[in-house]
Amino acid sequence: QAPSVVPTIRPLDPRAIDRIAAGEVVERPASAVKELVENALDAGATRIDVAIREGGRALIRVEDDGCGIRAGELPLALARHATSKTDGADLLDIRSFGFRGEALASLAAVARLTLTSRVLGEDGAALAAEGGRLGEVRPAAITRGTVVEVRDLFFATPARLKFLRGERAEAMAVADVVRRLAMAEPFVAFTLRDLTEGERLVLRLDAEVPDLQDPREALRRRLRAVLGRGFSEGAVPLDAEREGHHLTGWAGLPAEARGNATAQHVFVNGRPVRDKLLLGALRAGYMDVLASGRHPMAALFLDCDPRLVDVNVHPAKAEVRFRDPDLVRGLVVGGLRRALAPARPAPMLAEEL
Ligand code: ADP
Ligand code: MG
Repeated sequence: QAPSVVPTIRPLDPRAIDRIAAGEVVERPASAVKELVENALDAGATRIDVAIREGGRALIRVEDDGCGIRAGELPLALARHATSKTDGADLLDIRSFGFRGEALASLAAVARLTLTSRVLGEDGAALAAEGGRLGEVRPAAITRGTVVEVRDLFFATPARLKFLRGERAEAMAVADVVRRLAMAEPFVAFTLRDLTEGERLVLRLDAEVPDLQDPREALRRRLRAVLGRGFSEGAVPLDAEREGHHLTGWAGLPAEARGNATAQHVFVNGRPVRDKLLLGALRAGYMDVLASGRHPMAALFLDCDPRLVDVNVHPAKAEVRFRDPDLVRGLVVGGLRRALAPARPAPMLAEEL
C-alpha cells in the first residue's frame, strides 16, 4: 500500500550545506587548530603562535609570519572550494597541506571568524564572518602575515557543541595537534598559549637550525624537544627503502615503552597522519620484543612520490591510502625489526631445543 503523503524533494539551503560539510572538516577545536596551522605552514611561515581559551571553544587564534592574503582575495579565502594551492587537475600530486579549500569556509560557517592579513608592500585588511554570513573587507593594522581568530566554535551548530569533551580534554587535543605538526616542521618556531585564566605558555619550540654535518640532527633535536629526553637518547634510527618508499625516523627502545599509544607518531610525506596501516605495522615491528599492553614510542617518517599515496580519502586528511599497502607494511615492519635487532633476545638455536 502506497503511503498517502509523498515527501517533496527540495535542494538544501546553501547555509545548511555549509554546516553539514563543515562538520566533516572541523570536528573539534583541535581539528580547527590543525587546519589553521597547516595553512600557516603552507604560507611559508617561520613562526606560528597559537592561543586558545576554554579548550578552544571560546577562542582559537593562530598568528603567522607567512606570505599573507591580498585584501581583494579575503572573501575568496573564506569561500568554499576556493584555494590557491591546486587547480584541481591532479589531486594525486599534492605537495601542500591544504588543497580542498574548505577549512576557512567551514570555520566561517560554524563560528565567528576574523581573518586579518597583510601581503608585504601592501596594506593590511580584515574580513569577519559569522555563521556563514560574510562582512565587508576593512583596512586593518597588522605588521605582516596572517591572524585568524575563531570565536564561539560551533555556536551555529549546537548539536555539534554537545559532542565536545571537557575543556581540559579539548585543550590537550589541541596541544597534541601542535606538537605533531611541530615534529613535521623543525625549522618553524611554535608557541601555544592558554588564555583561559590569565596567560599560560603551554608549549614553546624555537626554530631548529639546519645542521650541515648531519641533515637529520635538526629533526632529532625537535623530536627531543617535543617527546623528551627519554625518547631521543634510547631511540634507534631507522633507514629503509623499498621501490621509491623511504622510511626514516626513530624507534624507541622496548624498555622505554609506555602503557598507552600516545607517543606514536607517523608522518607521510611530511604530513602527520593517524593511519591504521602504519600504526599496525609499527605494532607488528615490535611484536616479539614487547610484552602485550606495552606501546612503543616512535616517530616514523615515510616519504614517497605523492602519486603513490592518496591523501584525499579523509576530509581531515588523517588517513591515507597507499597504492601498494603490502609493500609499505613490509617496509615498516622490516625496517623496525632490523633497527631493533640488537634489542631482540637472541633466537634459540636448533641444538638448544
Ligand atoms: P586550502 O588550505 O585547502 O587551500 P583553506 O580554506 O584552508 O583551503 O584556505 C583557503 C585559502 O586561503 C588558501 O588556499 C590560501 O590561499 C589562503 N590562506 C588561508 N590561510 C592562510 C594563511 N595563514 N596565510 C596565507 N594564506 C592563507
Ligand atoms: Mg587549509
